[in-house]
Amino acid sequence: MQVVDLSHPVSTGMQVFPGDPSVELRSAATVAADGFAVAQLHLGSHSGTHLDAPLHTVQGGAAVDAMPLESLMGPARIVTLPEPAANAVLRWEDVSGQLENLLPGTIVLFSTGWSRHFDTPAYLEHPTFDAGIAERLVAAGVRLVGVDTLNPDPTPGPADPGQSQGGPFLPFHDVFLGAGGGIVENLTRLDAVPVPEPWFSALPLRLEGLDGSPVRAVAFRP
Ligand SMILES: [Zn+2]
Repeated sequence: MQVVDLSHPVSTGMQVFPGDPSVELRSAATVAADGFAVAQLHLGSHSGTHLDAPLHTVQGGAAVDAMPLESLMGPARIVTLPEPAANAVLRWEDVSGQLENLLPGTIVLFSTGWSRHFDTPAYLEHPTFDAGIAERLVAAGVRLVGVDTLNPDPTPGPADPGQSQGGPFLPFHDVFLGAGGGIVENLTRLDAVPVPEPWFSALPLRLEGLDGSPVRAVAFRP
């Protein structure tokens, strides 16, 4: 079975959402000194390739350990959006042609190629997805969406005081997580998947009561 890894490596100092906890991996024990190796991990619940649970933006929403595993793996469709401009806003008409005849429960993965900018300042100027797309996907019975960007919504830049005005504006999150769905962010290598309708899996750690978790996201053919 061919498996395509759609996850970024998790490493010390890797790029994270502005203001999120930094990623630091340290040695806590070594074979040389202790007879076994153990690492100490410092990271946020949204570090690297990760899953947003409803609780991420919805008061009282489901936590990551309460999300049904059936919704996090299964048949997927990749929507390819080649080379959108920086900060482009993608709307329903840009994606609808590739979302016809969608069965309820299909996982939708948006491939913009923006992951090539990961770990550079340009990664923050990613294309974004209009909330109308989230509304249509929810209506079609989609429960899980993945993007190869930091965020389906705009990410505030250093000059943008969005955070000080009551938090960033997250309309895609609000609609999709508000309907009980999940969002996988920071996917990569979607262009290496050889078929447009692979199976997809992104299982989170069973972190009790938390708003998200790093995942190992893969595409495969059962
Ligand atoms: Zn997130």
